[in-house]
Amino acid sequence: MAVALLVAAGSGERLGAGRPKAFVELAGRPMLAWSLDAVRAAGIAEIVVALPAGEDAPSGTVGVPGGATRSASVRAALAAAPPGDVVVHDAARPLVTPETFTATLAALAHADCAIAAAPVPDTIKEAGDDRVVTATLDRSRLWAIQTPQAFRRAALEQALTQPDELLAQATDDAWLVERTGGTVRVVESTPANFKVTTAHDLRIAELLLADRLPPAPAH
Ligand code: C5P
Repeated sequence: MAVALLVAAGSGERLGAGRPKAFVELAGRPMLAWSLDAVRAAGIAEIVVALPAGEDAPSGTVGVPGGATRSASVRAALAAAPPGDVVVHDAARPLVTPETFTATLAALAHADCAIAAAPVPDTIKEAGDDRVVTATLDRSRLWAIQTPQAFRRAALEQALTQPDELLAQATDDAWLVERTGGTVRVVESTPANFKVTTAHDLRIAELLLADRLPPAPAH
């Protein structure tokens, strides 16, 4: 069975909520709790959480202090994880579904890494510093990358051995696997699995999650 690594150590400065983003209240619970429900509903019992200073690990999970960058947080969580393939998820995506975890892990049968991704509805252009457009990309081949991202254990371990400067540049872990020659596949997800970055995102997530009841407490 796979191990889930939840990265929750970001400061959430862009959100401006006065505490680390993953612990901001969202529809009556800490943001992290929503992702944990989805992980557990997918049948994943081993969970390591990379934490910001001053926050405790949720019950039933192993907590590790996060690092200065996202990749450093992933590396710290991986070091504490029991054997097995891993699935990395941002605590900042509380709308994730159990099925997205299951689908990315299943796709590892044909790849070193399988990542949730949504087709891009907008036309994407490149522009220079002067705002002059230099290219229009072929939208039919573009994917907006999310988490969960599932990895064969050896592929992620190898990816994280790259130099710290490079790890610091990585906005997702799959890029590090691409760089080390691994096969990365996209698994179609929905734009509803968005990352909460701004106060506006938090409001939308609140509206969407308000209808979801937390699971009944275990007896
Ligand atoms: O900053 P961003 O929103 O891209 O962060 C994505 C995820 O990575 C968040 O869940 C955040 O808590 C986590 N993170 C982390 N350690 C860091 C930076 C970000 O665990 N040093």
